[in-house]
Amino acid sequence: MALKGLDIFKLTPKTNCKDCGNPTCMAFSMKVAQGALDISKCPHLSADVLEKLAESTAPPMKSLTVKAGDTEYKIGGETVLFRHEKSFVSKSLYAFSLCDTMSDAEADAALDASLKVDYERISERMYAEFISVTYEKNADRFVELAKKAMGTDRGIILNCTDFEVAEAAVAATAAAKPILNGANASNYEKMSKLATDNGIILGVGGVDLDELYETTEKIEALGNKNLILDVGCRSIKSAFEAAVQIRRAALLNKDRVFGYPSLVNVGALASGDENMQAALASLFTLKYGSIIVLEKMTYATSLAVHGLRQNVFTDPQKPMKIEPGIYPLNKADENAPCAITVDFALTYFVVSGELERSGVPVNLLISDAGGYSVLTAWAAGKLSASSVAKFIKDYDVENKIKNRTLIIPGKVAVLKGEIQDKLPDWKVIVGPNEAVALVKFMKDFAS
Ligand code: SF4
Repeated sequence: MALKGLDIFKLTPKTNCKDCGNPTCMAFSMKVAQGALDISKCPHLSADVLEKLAESTAPPMKSLTVKAGDTEYKIGGETVLFRHEKSFVSKSLYAFSLCDTMSDAEADAALDASLKVDYERISERMYAEFISVTYEKNADRFVELAKKAMGTDRGIILNCTDFEVAEAAVAATAAAKPILNGANASNYEKMSKLATDNGIILGVGGVDLDELYETTEKIEALGNKNLILDVGCRSIKSAFEAAVQIRRAALLNKDRVFGYPSLVNVGALASGDENMQAALASLFTLKYGSIIVLEKMTYATSLAVHGLRQNVFTDPQKPMKIEPGIYPLNKADENAPCAITVDFALTYFVVSGELERSGVPVNLLISDAGGYSVLTAWAAGKLSASSVAKFIKDYDVENKIKNRTLIIPGKVAVLKGEIQDKLPDWKVIVGPNEAVALVKFMKDFAS
């Protein structure tokens, strides 16, 4: 039975030492009761207490670590059904597919095409984290492709329900810690042992939700709780229903058997239809695919799904920020002027877009303003003459850029005098109030 915060609090040392990252033992206890924190985050609980609390305070959905090359990601661990209740915690990850029916040339082309979709947006790497390799009929080819996938910086998903073939593929890729997606009602014992022996996550499937539930329960009884649930690909409707019902059972009904992350293969649900796959990947990013497999990752698909993911899997209470620094635009060099603004992501995209549209070389300086917009940052004291001068010093701007022109946002024209006092070698110019006027402003400035 789930414990209340007060029950947990009674068992803490009550020293308020903050080692768990919370201001008080009570705050820690409340978060543990909500499933937002693991009880083990308090290093001062005795083994007895930990054992007593571990099961009753465990989050309703397991959080697993998956390996994609050298990068580790968390999947699962969600505590709410809707983002407006609280933020989601583990972003959906994406995979593209290889299959043993592909020729060498086809597999290489598929790898090249999807691997090149790899870029950064608002300080986040946008790419398909996994390669999903499917066994259909050629075991040697399947293992060969799994090894080929291992030569990339992506994680591997092995789709295979044939135990012998899966065993060979796992042996060939064990160092990469692949996800073995292939346990079902008829092979789960052997598959579970194979996954457990190799310390890898096991994907479980079933002909329907009842079978998936029973098989998962049997695997748990074997002691394996390192699982991901495959929602199946009988139809879009059944996959969607399964994804939603699994999550609702775990979070609303606190049914731990379904308390695992989900895997959705939209490539199989809409084979050959890239647009439909992008639409389905978006749908399952919202509800509730932990790993979403597409046939391929293209820029068109990526812009849609990664952009959506970035918006859905952010804490609405924390503004989206980009890294402070010097961003040369339009091939700006040390002789180009500087324009300064704040690190709120939306401000950056609007301002940099307009500056690029002007075609005038300019060094865009992004200062650390806590992710606030220009006026909010100014009102909060995060954008001031002192913060601008500090940025120029901290980022060594005067040694990197010879031009001494600094354009400030028109909305903080009031700062001009103070900034000029703090940076006497610079010529401070007030830019327009709105970003949309930057194109004309920059063209006039350059002429
Ligand atoms: S680490 Fe433990 S003892 Fe310290 S404040 Fe957190 S809950 Fe209390």
